[in-house]
Amino acid sequence: MTLSLKDRVALITGATSGIGLAVAEALAGAGADVIIGGFGEADAIAATLTDLEARGVRAAHDGSDLTSGDAVRAMVAKAERDFGRLDILVNNAGMQHVAPVEDFPADRWDLILALNLTAAFHGMAAVVPGMKARGWGRIISTASAHSIAASPFKSAYVSAKHGLIGLTKTVALETALHGITVNAISPGYVWTPLVEKQIPDTMAARGLTREQVLNDVLLAAQPTKAFVTVEQVAAMALHLCSDASAQITGTNISMDGGWTAG
Ligand code: NAD
Repeated sequence: MTLSLKDRVALITGATSGIGLAVAEALAGAGADVIIGGFGEADAIAATLTDLEARGVRAAHDGSDLTSGDAVRAMVAKAERDFGRLDILVNNAGMQHVAPVEDFPADRWDLILALNLTAAFHGMAAVVPGMKARGWGRIISTASAHSIAASPFKSAYVSAKHGLIGLTKTVALETALHGITVNAISPGYVWTPLVEKQIPDTMAARGLTREQVLNDVLLAAQPTKAFVTVEQVAAMALHLCSDASAQITGTNISMDGGWTAG
């Protein structure tokens, strides 16, 4: 059983911050070359690449807007051209919008479905042929406790994350004989910019203070009363890339402090 990812190449979407960045750090720490997707300031991204390369691996950035399926496929093709192969795909880029369904802007619905679900479809479709040809692959999608349970005012996000699990199971079955595993990790609330940004909208939608949103809305669902850390999610992603996880496929791993047990 080995946890070394030396000579493996990983593409992690949405890795300029939050969970994706922690996953990129963990995979690079195990020896994988990494391509990080996502938006950000050029200086900050350059510093991140330098930091990743300090682990003795190659690192590159791709700033494509993944709400376009063509852009997702072009990103995968470029990564395969530049690095010669793609062994690990982490579908992690995601966005949120909070509003009652009757006020939910249709363009936000379309964008959230495009990024949180359809981008994973295009990414999987694009990486599977190379993985099949080499007989090894790891596809991991960051889903959410909202892939299992709903919360009010998050119709697009909950729908996309539920759909992502259907996609995960289907592609796991299609690739099971090829040394490829396809899984989802479903965190509860992780303390990242995505959570921080939705606090004002939740305050407005529910007429609550910031403290009430933190304690009575966010951590109300999480029986442990603690946020998940990005390092914990990254450690699970790394485990799914190991030989020890070769028989874990088509599953949705909850890391939610017991939220969806109730
Ligand atoms: P984050 O806001 O810190 O990071 C989001 C990343 O996605 C960034 O790198 C951003 O640049 C990128 N991104 C945004 N729009 C994009 C687009 N159109 N094209 C390409 N990249 C784009 O968020 P996070 O909290 O680390 O979330 C990462 C994933 O984890 C998401 O899929 C999210 O739904 C999921 N998740 C988060 C939590 C949480 O509590 N933070 C809980 C469960 C699941």
